Amino acid sequence: MDYWEPELETLPRDTLERFQARRLGQTVERALNSPWYGEAYARQGITPDDIRSVDDLRTLPFTTKDDLRAHFPYGLLCLPLRETVRLHSSSGTTGTPTVIFHNRHDLASWANLVARSMFAAGVRDTDVFQNICGYGLFTGGLGFQYGAERLGALTIPAGSGNSRRQIKLMRDYGTTVIHTIPSYLVRLRAVFDELGLDPRRDTRLRLLLIGAEPHTEATRRRVQDMFGVKAYNSYGLSEMNGPGVAFECEAQSGLHLWEDAFIPEIVDPETLGPVGPGEFGELVLTTLDREAMPIIRYRTRDLTRFIPGPCPCGRTHRRIDRIAGRSDDMFIVKGVNVFPMQIEAVLMRIPEVGHDYLIVLDRVHGLDTLVVRVEMHPESFTGDFAALEELRDRITREIRDEILVTPKVELVEPGALPKPEGKAVRVRDRRNETGAEANVTPGE
Ligand code: AMP
Ligand code: ZN
Repeated sequence: MDYWEPELETLPRDTLERFQARRLGQTVERALNSPWYGEAYARQGITPDDIRSVDDLRTLPFTTKDDLRAHFPYGLLCLPLRETVRLHSSSGTTGTPTVIFHNRHDLASWANLVARSMFAAGVRDTDVFQNICGYGLFTGGLGFQYGAERLGALTIPAGSGNSRRQIKLMRDYGTTVIHTIPSYLVRLRAVFDELGLDPRRDTRLRLLLIGAEPHTEATRRRVQDMFGVKAYNSYGLSEMNGPGVAFECEAQSGLHLWEDAFIPEIVDPETLGPVGPGEFGELVLTTLDREAMPIIRYRTRDLTRFIPGPCPCGRTHRRIDRIAGRSDDMFIVKGVNVFPMQIEAVLMRIPEVGHDYLIVLDRVHGLDTLVVRVEMHPESFTGDFAALEELRDRITREIRDEILVTPKVELVEPGALPKPEGKAVRVRDRRNETGAEANVTPGE
């Protein structure tokens, strides 16, 4: 088995934990230089001497997105501005953005984590890597760019959009690896079809790296079938650099979370106490190798679990399960809690269903309504009304069995649903506002 950093990636657990404890102490010491942590920790009498082991982390308070927003822009910065060299920011559609600052060390450490991640998924310096991602404040562009360069792959900074051009680039330069969001790959495949091309025959593609938005295992399998290659899951968030936090290795059985750079915890989102072994909860992350802006016990809102047991690849860094949703994605309809991924899981295992859907919540005469608009698969989109009706009933039944609420299912033709430029929008909640969208995680 090949590793990017053999020693670090296979550290025995006790050595890894000692390493983490040391870095955690340094992190707390650095954080005290920021106005916000400095004041908050002083108020609570927290000093670096309190941190002797990884377990001591639990005595420290959480950091939330609201904290970052409330102290925007410089409240968590630990270094003078002249020592910082880049910022990335994640701007919601409303409200104050969050911003993360990096110094040179932070950028080098991040690039190395992305290189390590890509290597674990099987990317090598002989690959031609096309990064189909916004190159701006969004971290997927520059994050993968520098990571792939660090790895030594020939990197095409393709940016997002313009599918015909993407396909031309792939064919001109013999792209072997693509990174993008899964919802875009579906669109890209449709453009291959329009051009009478088949990526399995007409490109040199051998790997896909997909991430930045929630998707189910069934969606992954569909994407793999469309392109005839394996797709590896990439997880990250701008508050923790961006990509390179957790990544699937070639075993494709969970995402190794790089524990020399982050301490992961999984907590019950209500009680904030730890969940039992292998149970789902909210992922909380602490940076261990960031100098300009360390963040301690950040509540990601992403729901996952630790996968118990060792990975066949031999890496000792624990694996998290694919993100099941975000605690703030959950919507309540007719009193029932529902995650969009539950609906996606049902839809994507039905072959007649296409690759896109939209959940629309509304209130009619004071009652919640749940409409699921489902794009049909092009091959199933025929004029056979009886078959369509039968399919609609089947989807309705299967969703009801999963979420215990009966949806109104509307079948629409392939390509009929709106396609945002960035991350997919799965839910439109019209109950309280005039057409505003919930669940918008911005990217580019
Ligand atoms: P941003 O900071 O704008 O890059 O958004 C980060 C968020 O995107 C994370 O907190 C997750 O909710 C989501 N995300 C990123 N990668 C994945 C992934 N592989 N699977 C599911 N959700 C993801
Ligand atoms: Zn592994």
